[in-house]
Amino acid sequence: MAAGLKVLFVSSEVAPFAKTGGLADVAGSLPKYLQALGHDVRVVMPKYRQVASSGADLKQTGMTVYCNIVERTVSANVLESRLGGSVPIYFIEQDRYFDREGLYGTSVGDYEDNAERFIFFSKAVVALCEEMSWQPDVIHCNDWQTGLIPAYLSILYRDSEFWGRVGTLFTVHNLAYQGQFWHLDLPMTGLPWDVFTPEGLEFYGKINLLKSGIVFSHVINTVSKRYAQEIQSQEMGHGLDGVLRARAADLYGVINGVDYSVWSPDADRLLPVTYSAKNPSGKRKCKEALLRAFNLDVDLDRPLIGMVGRLVAQKGFDILAEVIDEIVGSDVSFVLLGTGDERYESMFKNLHSEFPGRAGVSIAFDNKTAHLIEAGSDIFLMPSRYEPCGLNQLYSLRYGTVPVVRATGGLDDTIEDYDETHGTGTGFKFEPYTGDALLACVRRAMEIYKDKKAWSSIVGRGMAADFSWDRAAKEYEKLYRKALSKMGRGVPV
Ligand code: ADP
Repeated sequence: MAAGLKVLFVSSEVAPFAKTGGLADVAGSLPKYLQALGHDVRVVMPKYRQVASSGADLKQTGMTVYCNIVERTVSANVLESRLGGSVPIYFIEQDRYFDREGLYGTSVGDYEDNAERFIFFSKAVVALCEEMSWQPDVIHCNDWQTGLIPAYLSILYRDSEFWGRVGTLFTVHNLAYQGQFWHLDLPMTGLPWDVFTPEGLEFYGKINLLKSGIVFSHVINTVSKRYAQEIQSQEMGHGLDGVLRARAADLYGVINGVDYSVWSPDADRLLPVTYSAKNPSGKRKCKEALLRAFNLDVDLDRPLIGMVGRLVAQKGFDILAEVIDEIVGSDVSFVLLGTGDERYESMFKNLHSEFPGRAGVSIAFDNKTAHLIEAGSDIFLMPSRYEPCGLNQLYSLRYGTVPVVRATGGLDDTIEDYDETHGTGTGFKFEPYTGDALLACVRRAMEIYKDKKAWSSIVGRGMAADFSWDRAAKEYEKLYRKALSKMGRGVPV
């Protein structure tokens, strides 16, 4: 094996310390698998209020970093813990920025000083490596909150002895969230005005931190092959398709893995009963527990459709709204767990009053219930308008819960449509983004559900599918080596 690399993994959220979505799951698992491949991996994130309440064992490192924000010097303490018991993770503690109710905002909206918060975080990450005298081979940045770091290395530190040979990989987990801010925030970044051009981080008169990551990193990837293609189209490029096309030679797609030590029904400590493909009886007990948890009629033969996710337009709730009454009105039970836009929250609250015994809704962020829905449902519904990778459909496969998904992004890459003739497939897919197509697909699944033999063959194939991080971690390793080869280091792979 080639020599291990020193990899700094930077993320604005890392499970189990603080989480709003899939990024935290990725950041909480990939570093462990990279370490298992022999790399020296260290993780950095902000110390939010949630980190303190996560029960993590935090230790003071005694290190303090100092960053300039225009004319002020702002300092941060650095705390330390271990991810998965073995990967060092550092927390940047500056309570004025991070000791708040939410990570990025509240239900009212984003925090107004998000530019300053994440400019500070990015500077603190750079300062931390210097403070530790730990020179990474590669910095792996994730999403807009870290998009300035590649710009710092490429513009401010190009000739520095410490930083001049460090490779950068930038992973786009969701192109829709770009970190766009007023141009007069630029001085806070410490970058010169000559980066404020269409070739740099200017975007329709604003600064765009995601664009900064895309433009200034050596290598870029997104979290599925199909999404890597889709975002190069005008229709799905969120205004950055041209920038992405310009970097197409360095843009890759790597499907996320699943941390099966957390998401597997045979080892899931959050479930009332565990089960496996060989010993599946516990799944029915989870279904019963789920129906009871949502106060629904306990009819175990009726198919149960589950959903978990952020209640935002991306997830397909507008087309679901068109047909949800028809779906729940037929002979199914339905449960949903999520938080997000007010309009979707009230849509689902109404549904519960309309179908009290059959539709259960929890407007909350609740990890234990998320696990119970994966285990207790028969069908997991993800009608997303777009989906960079999607994790819940992968969890569903392992839990023997059949995904019904729209054929987009990672959903398309990971779910194989059921084919009756050949007896293949792990779920049900539909393509047009319409309520009718969604309804027809759910009906098709419900029809097959009645055929117990066919259904258990779909469940069996899903449970046997392997989306472990081992494979994805090896792909990331290749991307790190590609980034290094751009610096004239190592052999291209
Ligand atoms: P995204 O990153 O777009 O939110 P993913 O499918 O990639 O979507 O990942 C979502 C992750 O967040 C999953 O682990 C899911 O279980 C979790 N999640 C989303 N909403 C909730 C919620 N309300 N309660 C608990 N977990 C949630």
